[in-house]
Amino acid sequence: MLSRPWLALLAALAFGVAMSFGSGSALQVATFFLINVLLAHSVNLLTGYAGQISLGHAGFFGVGAYACALLTRDYGLPLPLALAAAMALASVVGYLLSFPAGRVKEFYLAMMTLGFGMIFYEVAKEWTALTGGMMGLSGVPSPSLRTLAVFGMAVGPVAYLWIVLAIVVVVTVLLHNLIRSHFGRAYCAVHVSELAAGSVGISEAATKRSAYTLSAALAGLAGGCYAPLVAYLGPDSFALSRSVEALAMTIIGGLGSLPGQVLGAALLTYLPERLQIFAEYQFMAYGAILAVFFLVLPKGLAGMFAAPPRFAKTHAVVSLEPTPIRVPHSSGEGPLLRVENITMNFAGLRALDEVSLQLERGRVLALVGPNGSGKSTLINVISGVYRPSAGRVVFKGEDIAGRKAHEVSRRGIIRTFQDPRNILHFTVRENVLLGAHRLYRHGFLGAVCNSRAALREEAVFLRRVDEMLDLGGLAELGDRVLGELPYGTQRLAEVARAAVSDPELILLDEPAAGLSDAELEKLAAMIRRLRERDLGIVLVEHHMDFLNDVVDGVVVLDSGKLIYRGDMDGMRRDPEVTAAYLGVADEESVRA
Ligand code: ADP
Ligand code: MG
Repeated sequence: MLSRPWLALLAALAFGVAMSFGSGSALQVATFFLINVLLAHSVNLLTGYAGQISLGHAGFFGVGAYACALLTRDYGLPLPLALAAAMALASVVGYLLSFPAGRVKEFYLAMMTLGFGMIFYEVAKEWTALTGGMMGLSGVPSPSLRTLAVFGMAVGPVAYLWIVLAIVVVVTVLLHNLIRSHFGRAYCAVHVSELAAGSVGISEAATKRSAYTLSAALAGLAGGCYAPLVAYLGPDSFALSRSVEALAMTIIGGLGSLPGQVLGAALLTYLPERLQIFAEYQFMAYGAILAVFFLVLPKGLAGMFAAPPRFAKTHAVVSLEPTPIRVPHSSGEGPLLRVENITMNFAGLRALDEVSLQLERGRVLALVGPNGSGKSTLINVISGVYRPSAGRVVFKGEDIAGRKAHEVSRRGIIRTFQDPRNILHFTVRENVLLGAHRLYRHGFLGAVCNSRAALREEAVFLRRVDEMLDLGGLAELGDRVLGELPYGTQRLAEVARAAVSDPELILLDEPAAGLSDAELEKLAAMIRRLRERDLGIVLVEHHMDFLNDVVDGVVVLDSGKLIYRGDMDGMRRDPEVTAAYLGVADEESVRA
């Protein structure tokens, strides 16, 4: 059976056919609707998935429109080439904008993109030699004037509608595949939790750059299709109102939903037409309707009847017999991890004071100490979340102190968080699959075209995910949206996510906190499975009986200082450890 996004696409197709029998202006409006779908897809990629708001998309749209208009009119470039050039030019602009925009968030980002849109509008208005200024640019080869030809064949309004429809269908299919790939998951991860993204090897900066570039390319394509349709470009087509309209289509259609973009574009293309009966109150009615939509449909039109989007190529598992992919662990000389004299100062507070420890492969090291003693801070320093004030973190012979979190995790150090960091709108399976991010080898083209290699890789990792879900007792919950499940499940899913990443060193920050006895069993099963591999494990934990079963050694921190290093029995007899715990509720558990 066809899934709903495909049904929506077919509906759009049928709609296009129906419209092509209409009058000339109906044809033009239908083509404009399809162009709006492209523009909405573009905004949705950046805002709906990657979470970066844009109030300047008319700028990218305009770059594409002017590029296509000038290239076809003045240089006689064939339409396909002009469209490709429009995309390329807009994507360069998007790439450049991503550098300043990638550094700011929320209001500042909104302001910056708004500024970009306004600058573009002013340039379009003032650069008379290129754009014709306020007079505009006319004489663009156009289907309605019968001046457009593609490969020597004249293209009329009906043919042009079909061309744009084909582009929309192809773009939608490619986006569908993209979102169900490690690239698409990375967009969402950067949006929802930069910490989680970094911990599985996703570079926040690179991901945002790619989202801006791709989104701008799509808006450029939309603009490129727009120029021949209207035959005349004036700067007012690229004013702020166009950017706002594009964002409104995406939000009303449903952020993060592909069918939603079709719906949003349809509403915002046809509603203003229909509202002409209100004569001079047209825009007031329009504004009021939009305001009501935002109020009553926070998830957009798609939220009413489209299934929520999914983020993995789950069909790959059945369609291909996977061959296992293994990442070779270099054995290397010396200990796996050496922490040397790490000091971490926060304003006026020394959270770690010259802490040193080391860990061999195949060992489990417990990190204990009262609350506030610096355990999480140490994990944060090792995993690249914090840059230490002094000291070295030597992993497999390389000093990694101060490296970014995604660089650390790509080297094979994977961590979980004291407060679980998951992508709550992903299913359990998709969250765990995120852990495999650093292991993917197929590129962007493979991902958007669902190449054999891409499907095979996805199948291998999905299988590995399902094994881990079995082990963690989560198999039944694989398809459930994680945000709807209890806290314990979210914690276990995070540990499973770390486990499927094929780590060489895994850092678990209080994985057992808040787990029921049944869940503790599942956690222990996953940790035992990890121990079978030749990797190092650092476990921050308060449950002493839980630790007894699994650890090889223990270090104790107190107020940022390392006060004990040795085995569990020795720790219980150590007077300094006992004193550190005296008066705290944990005393009993130390003695237990
Ligand atoms: P633990 O995990 O052992 O409970 P933490 O490592 O979370 O302890 O905290 C150690 C100390 O460092 C605490 O006093 C805490 O308030 C402080 N601390 C941790 N992170 C920060 C931060 N980002 N800014 C300022 N102080 C911090
Ligand atoms: Mg902590």
